[in-house]
Amino acid sequence: MTQYDSDNIFAKILRGEIPAHRIYEDEATFVFMDIMPRADGHMLVIPKTPCRNMLDASPEQLAAVMATVQKISHAALEAFDAQGITLQQFNEAAGGQEVFHLHFHILPRRDGDALRPPG
Ligand code: IMP
Repeated sequence: MTQYDSDNIFAKILRGEIPAHRIYEDEATFVFMDIMPRADGHMLVIPKTPCRNMLDASPEQLAAVMATVQKISHAALEAFDAQGITLQQFNEAAGGQEVFHLHFHILPRRDGDALRPPG
C-alpha cells in the first residue's frame, strides 16, 4: 500500500492552509463543499486523521466517517430539498481517486435529475 502523503489538498484544508466552505465538524470528521459540485449540495466527508483511502482506513476511522455521512445525508435531504442521496467513494488512481485522503462524496438527488459531469 502506498504511503499517506500529507501534502494532499484535503490535509492542507484540515491544517487551514487553504480555504474550504465548512459545513460540519466533530472530533473525528470534517465536512465541506466540493469545489466542482456534480449536484447542488455536493459535499465531502473526511476523517481528521491521516488516511489515504478506504483500503488504508482503520475500523474506527470508517465508523466515524460513516456516522457523519449518515448524519449529514439526513440534513442534506432537508437543506437541499432532495429526495435521495448518492454516495461515491474512490480508491487509488485505478479506482478513480484523485485526492489521496479518504473521502466520501454526498450527492443530494432530486427525482429525475442527472449528475453533472466531473470538472
Ligand atoms: P476523487 O478523489 O476522485 O473523489 O475527487 C476529488 C474531489 O475533490 C473532486 O470532486 C474535486 O472536485 C474535489 N476537490 C478538489 N480540490 C478541492 C478543494 O480544494 N475543495 C473542495 N473540493 C475539492
